[in-house]
Amino acid sequence: MEHERWKVVITECDHGSIEEEKAEFGRIGAELILAQIKGEEELIRVCKDADGLLIQYALLTREVLQQLPKCKVIARYGVGVDSIDLRAATDLGIIVANVPDYCVDEVADQAVSMILALIRKTVFFDQKVKSNEWDFRKGRPIHRIKGKTLGLIGSGRIGLGVAKRVSAFGVRVMAFDPYLQKPPGGIELMDFDTVLKESDFISIHCPLNESTRHLLGEKEFQKMGKKPLIINTSRGPIIDETALIRALTKGQVSGAGLDVLEKEPPDPQNPLLKMENVIIAPHTSFYSEESISELKRRTAENVSAVLLGKWPKSVVNREVIGKTKAHISSD
Ligand code: NAD
Repeated sequence: MEHERWKVVITECDHGSIEEEKAEFGRIGAELILAQIKGEEELIRVCKDADGLLIQYALLTREVLQQLPKCKVIARYGVGVDSIDLRAATDLGIIVANVPDYCVDEVADQAVSMILALIRKTVFFDQKVKSNEWDFRKGRPIHRIKGKTLGLIGSGRIGLGVAKRVSAFGVRVMAFDPYLQKPPGGIELMDFDTVLKESDFISIHCPLNESTRHLLGEKEFQKMGKKPLIINTSRGPIIDETALIRALTKGQVSGAGLDVLEKEPPDPQNPLLKMENVIIAPHTSFYSEESISELKRRTAENVSAVLLGKWPKSVVNREVIGKTKAHISSD
């Protein structure tokens, strides 16, 4: 069917290049505009005749969406879609798509690398040797990894990736995940208290929401029978950081690997920054050159799929099915 040339707008992009997007929209013959939009007025002006949007930070309120009459699809670079009024998008027949799993391997690798670095005290020794201390006894005690128990809090895509990796080290894996009916292969599903009591390492892989905010606090640290290592690559506020600092100080937990914090970046006087048994990364788990390239390609594909009359791989507002503005072949 003949159609006007599609117009696709990237509302803002701080990835350095848009090679993947250019390749995808070149393939389907769409016009691609890279903007760096600052405010609502500019957003409406640039996007008012767009067929599809790729967004990073743009705030798409009902008022904005109502002024984008041709827009059929909005694809977010990444997972979170809280900057989009989903109900309004659905009412207006706009499909909202995301890429929920572009960095599963990276985050799982990061969690395992933190467990290994903490248990083998790699970062600790590196700092000692570089300040002229060559003495393995400074790192005592170090325990064998094999035979230990990892407790996952949340066992979805990333939790399962961590479980697969550590099983190669001879680690037993248990998980607390109230939404799983049956355990994924190799994982024992347990109640929360058992995971707290029996784990040598606890790794967090559940989403942040009102029921998981401060899921690990003073009470939970007190229940940890084996002075575990705590790993958080999920979201900072899942741990009550003040309680964690206290638990580390009292020795209720023996160390922590944190890719995320309650406040990012942390205040310079945050006591975690001074603790030798804590390693911290600046929210890097999602990142590798490959994961970002995959994210860009798949975000672009989510838009082109809709323009070509197909469903994108991951639709966020499934209620839009049956009322899309686009002509989707199976709609
Ligand atoms: P997922 O949806 O595949 O898995 C999440 C699991 O958590 C699900 O199995 C769910 O049932 C479980 N869950 C929900 N509420 C729970 C609760 N109260 N207690 C225990 N388990 C609960 O998600 P995923 O792809 O594995 O990602 C997990 C989290 O990792 C994301 O929510 C995100 O916050 C975080 N993440 C961080 C980075 C980073 O760069 N640090 C990157 C990607 C994802």
